Amino acid sequence: MSAFFHNFHTHTARCNHAQGSDREMVLGAIEAGVQVLGFSDHTPYPGISPAAGRNRMPVSQTAEYFASLTALKEEFAGQIELHIGFEAEYLAPLWKGLLDHLADFPCDYLILGADAHSPAEMGDIAAMERTRAWAAQFGLPITDTIRYTMQK
Ligand SMILES: [Zn+2]
Ligand SMILES: [Zn+2]
Repeated sequence: MSAFFHNFHTHTARCNHAQGSDREMVLGAIEAGVQVLGFSDHTPYPGISPAAGRNRMPVSQTAEYFASLTALKEEFAGQIELHIGFEAEYLAPLWKGLLDHLADFPCDYLILGADAHSPAEMGDIAAMERTRAWAAQFGLPITDTIRYTMQK
């Protein structure tokens, strides 16, 4: 009896830890009975090092991310409701650059991702609170929070 009608946590292949095309994901969601699907790839951070950025969408793909998903939004209107967002982690030194980069894109929402670099850090909510304060700067709704441990 547990129908999964809404999902706001969807990565794309752009972050290197999801597979398949955007279109395949939409088709798969429709087939599974999802009514509202939100895409939330990891925020593209201008200036991030290649090592730190290896598991997030590159800045060079932001425009294509919105173009692809906007086209799918129109193509599948009436079959599924699509939203375009990001899973966002607070990286203090790069914060301003991220805000500037995303300012002109029609972002619908954010998921807050709190990086924890060891299991011990999972008990510390400071990173989550910092990220929440940062998201408020966007003036965007927060649909979900994710906590996970990064493998170093
Ligand atoms: Zn991820
Ligand atoms: Zn994620």
